[in-house]
Amino acid sequence: MRAPAAMHRPETLEELLAILREHGDSAKIVAGGTAFTILWKAGLLQAEHIVSATGLHGLTDVRADDEALTVGALARVRDVERAEATRRNSPVLASALRLVANVRVRNVATMGGNVAEADYTSDPPAVLSALDAVVTIRDKDGGRDLPLREFLVDYFETALRPDEFVTGVRIPILAADWGGTYLKLLSRSAEDRTCIGVAAFLQHATDGTCAGVRVAVVGGNPVPLRLPEVERQFVGQEPSMEAFAALAAEYAAAADPVADNRGTASYRRRVMAPLIVRALRRAARGTNDAVFA
Ligand SMILES: Cc1cc2nc3c(=O)[nH]c(=O)nc-3n(C[C@H](O)[C@H](O)[C@H](O)COP(=O)(O)OP(=O)(O)OC[C@H]3O[C@@H](n4cnc5c(N)ncnc54)[C@H](O)[C@@H]3O)c2cc1C
Repeated sequence: MRAPAAMHRPETLEELLAILREHGDSAKIVAGGTAFTILWKAGLLQAEHIVSATGLHGLTDVRADDEALTVGALARVRDVERAEATRRNSPVLASALRLVANVRVRNVATMGGNVAEADYTSDPPAVLSALDAVVTIRDKDGGRDLPLREFLVDYFETALRPDEFVTGVRIPILAADWGGTYLKLLSRSAEDRTCIGVAAFLQHATDGTCAGVRVAVVGGNPVPLRLPEVERQFVGQEPSMEAFAALAAEYAAAADPVADNRGTASYRRRVMAPLIVRALRRAARGTNDAVFA
């Protein structure tokens, strides 16, 4: 039997940061608790101090300015998906959030918890990565902003120090001439995490060629897979099936999927390229949605 942990319920961010600073690695944050509880019961999380973030006031806003959608870390996934600011400025994200788990989980799970959990089969990180989202972080001395691609470092591992807390996610808003989509491939039940998830965004130039493309894949790598150089090479090309297939093949070749109970490594690699092609076709049509593949 492990010793019971001390429970802390700070009401302000300053109080929470002071507790994290005092207890360092022996303290763990719990927000919605949907992932934390499972890991804790399985003995995969150890802590002498559990710091609940749910008593904090604030950090639940979802708002947009001309450049970005900003989501507070304690905003519930369900609230973010339904917020007018999300649906208007980041429709693919709003739609992708509706594919997360089920409404009971989404009513409790927070956006901060989703990114901080760093699960390679989570859906939102695909869209957030493709949109170049930035994670805002605070500690007792100040804070820093980290692009999601630097924040997520490995399977279930982030760049957060023990005394740091995620306060929100800033998601740049794409111009109206971008189209996008998120495809979620399930290999088990309808409410499961993704086996492979693909977020794709595409911008048409006035001459019909491609002015920009973004592709991020989850489930196929420890962290969302993005290949900026491959994306850059796509610019100026006709958005044809051949060009989509060539880009998808580069992603499949770069992937290093893990085998788990949602699929073998070879299965994941095999389905990745056709899924990317399908996602790019939808993005080119400007569907701006998220669907099960
Ligand atoms: C049945 C079920 C099905 C699911 N299906 C899906 C799915 O289909 N797609 C999907 O994407 N996800 C899925 N999830 C995962 C779910 O989205 C996450 O569990 C949830 O988003 C985590 O948020 P939380 O607030 O509950 O975090 P918690 O469980 O409270 O915390 C998760 C981790 O993040 C840390 N943490 C939390 N908040 C912060 C913060 N602000 N700063 C620093 N660290 C923090 C905690 O210490 C912990 O390590 C599923 C979960 C369940 C239980």
